[in-house]
Amino acid sequence: MLSEQEYKIDILGNIPFISIHIGTLLIFWVGFSWVALITCFALWFIRMFGVTAGYHRYFSHRTYKTTRWFQFILAVIGNSAAQLGPLWWAAHHRHHHHYSDTKQDIHSPIVHGFWWSHIGWVMCPKYSQTDEKKVRDFAQYPELQWLNRFHMIVPIVLAIILTVIGIVFQQYIPQLKTNGLQMLAWGFFLSTLLLYHSTFTINSLAHIFGDRRFNTIDSSRNNWFLALITLGEGWHNNHHFYPASERQGFYWWEIDVTHYILTLLAWLGIVWNLRTPPKQIYEQLSLKSADKTSQVINISDSDVD
Ligand SMILES: [Zn+2]
Ligand SMILES: [Zn+2]
Repeated sequence: MLSEQEYKIDILGNIPFISIHIGTLLIFWVGFSWVALITCFALWFIRMFGVTAGYHRYFSHRTYKTTRWFQFILAVIGNSAAQLGPLWWAAHHRHHHHYSDTKQDIHSPIVHGFWWSHIGWVMCPKYSQTDEKKVRDFAQYPELQWLNRFHMIVPIVLAIILTVIGIVFQQYIPQLKTNGLQMLAWGFFLSTLLLYHSTFTINSLAHIFGDRRFNTIDSSRNNWFLALITLGEGWHNNHHFYPASERQGFYWWEIDVTHYILTLLAWLGIVWNLRTPPKQIYEQLSLKSADKTSQVINISDSDVD
C-alpha cells in the first residue's frame, strides 16, 4: 500500500481541476439551449478522440504512425481535454501497464480502492511531475515539451473562444437563445467534466466490472458500456492483453469508435501502419469457443508479439 503521505490530496494545486466541477453548476443558472447542448457533446466527442487516439493509442502505446504535424494536432486536441500534457499522460500510463494492479500501480482500484483509482491519484502532488525517462521517444520534440509544460494554455483558449462565440451568437443570431456564459458552462465546464469522469472509469471501473476474456496478470475487464462512453477504451482486458494493437475491440461487434475514425484517417493517408492483434490470438479464441471446458485464454504477450 502507499504510505499516508502518498495518499495526500493537494487542494490548492488542483484549483483548476476543482473549478471545472464547481463551474459545471453554472448550467443551472444560465439555462438550456440546443446549440449549447450540441456544443457540449461535440466537444466531448472530439476531445475524447484526442485522449483515446492521441494520448492513449499514439503517445502511450505507439500503435500506429503519422506525420510530425498530425502528431502535434493529436497532442493539441488531447491537451484541450485538460488532462495535463501528452508526456505526463503517456509516462503515467506506461507506468500503469508496467505495474498493473500491483502495489506500484498508481491507480489500481484493487490495491488502492475505487475513489483513489478514479480521482484521488489525479489530485496527489506526488504524481504531478513527468518522468521523462518513460517517454524518451516523444520527449525529443520541443513542441510536445512546450505543450506539456504549458498544458493550461489550450484549455483556457478553448474556454475563451466558446465564450466569444456565445457572445457573437447572442448578438447576431438571437434565435439560438444562447450567450457567452451559457456556451462556457455547457461547452467547456460540463463537457470537460464528462470527459474527466468517462476517461477515469477506465482506471477505476474497467479493472472491476466486466468480462475477462484473457487471463492477464492484472484485473482488467471488457465492458461494453464503458466502451461506448469512451469511444472504445472499455475493451480494457483486450487492451491489457495486447496493448500494441491500435484496435481495442477485437471483433466487429465490440464497438470501438476510435478505431473506426483511425481506419478512416488511414484510408485518407493521414495515419498508417495501424497495428492489429496477431492471428494467433484469433486462432486461440476460436479454439476456446469450440472447447467449452476452457475458461479463459492465456497466452503471454511474448508468445504473440
Ligand atoms: Zn488498465
Ligand atoms: Zn493502455
